Amino acid sequence: MNLIDLRSDTVTKPTAAMWEAMRAAELGDDVLGDEPTVQALERKVAALLGKEATLFVPSGTLANQLAIRCATEPGDEILVHRDGHVIHYETGAPAAISGCMIQTLEGEGGIFDAEAVRRAIHPGDVHFPPVRMVIVENTHNRGGGTPWSLAAFTAVATESRRHNLHIHVDGARLFNACGALGYSGAEFATHADSVSVCFSKGLGCPVGSALCGTAALIKRARRFRKMLGGAMRQSGLLAGAAIYALDHNIIRLKDDHANARRLAAHIAKIQGLTIERAPELTPTNMVFFRVAPALGDAEAFCAAAERAGVRLIGMGPDRVRAVTHLDVSSAAIDQAADVLSQVAAAR
Ligand SMILES: *Cc1c(COP(=O)(O)O)cnc(C)c1O
Repeated sequence: MNLIDLRSDTVTKPTAAMWEAMRAAELGDDVLGDEPTVQALERKVAALLGKEATLFVPSGTLANQLAIRCATEPGDEILVHRDGHVIHYETGAPAAISGCMIQTLEGEGGIFDAEAVRRAIHPGDVHFPPVRMVIVENTHNRGGGTPWSLAAFTAVATESRRHNLHIHVDGARLFNACGALGYSGAEFATHADSVSVCFSKGLGCPVGSALCGTAALIKRARRFRKMLGGAMRQSGLLAGAAIYALDHNIIRLKDDHANARRLAAHIAKIQGLTIERAPELTPTNMVFFRVAPALGDAEAFCAAAERAGVRLIGMGPDRVRAVTHLDVSSAAIDQAADVLSQVAAAR
């Protein structure tokens, strides 16, 4: 059976053209400082995001954790939305690697406001941990793939500057936000001290992420990358895929967004499933829906869907996520919706 895999946009396999770009990549040794393809990628990403320097890393988790390690000291506090990736999916790394406290912020869809930042700052008293950093996740994964508007981010950044916070953008899906709201990566990154981006999500690469910032920050991050075992050798093989992805796969993200709206419209018609947002309000490449109790819990529904040929991910007791990506066509979306409709009817 040909499974339609909507668990995540990380499941994509390299296309023939991407394999060709990988095969053609000139290779060196990045730890010894002469990996030409990695260096070309790092220059390209820095230019794309308007930052001085970039570091190629194996994962988005490492990019985020290097930013935290560079910007904080043990005992410092970081502001993160309560649904943040750094809190839910990075296995406690801010505590383990950087010795940091996290203070959670609230806000609809993973978006918080300047007032939330202002309230989170402690009085300048010896009792309190210094708040040193704020993390903005764009698009916000658990928030429903929500993109931050430039206005919302500017307001948060302005308030954060008042308190000398390091502003980090977890931009694993920054280019999805760009596609949805029409700003460029560099425009959004203007207000950030560091930005992480993933090549292994919607851009379709097998492996790889990057951290961008000032030359001084990236120099420090390079040391910590080595310390944590994330320095790689002939990594031009992977950087070649990333360069290909930046050149070819950013512009097609809007197809994934159209497919997500298409899927939401289908699911809206299925008895027992309730989409969290109307199809026209589905902002990027994620569709979240709730499973009625009569159909069982999210886990049981996902298991039944998988037996019928569609893979999804449960993200809560009754909450399910479907993600569109470059390995699912609009025809496959229609087929997946048929399957979900049959699964729901049979339960
Ligand atoms: C996927 C993701 C990351 C990084 O995940 P890795 O699997 O470590 O590459 C970081 N932030 C967000 C919001 C993500 O969705």
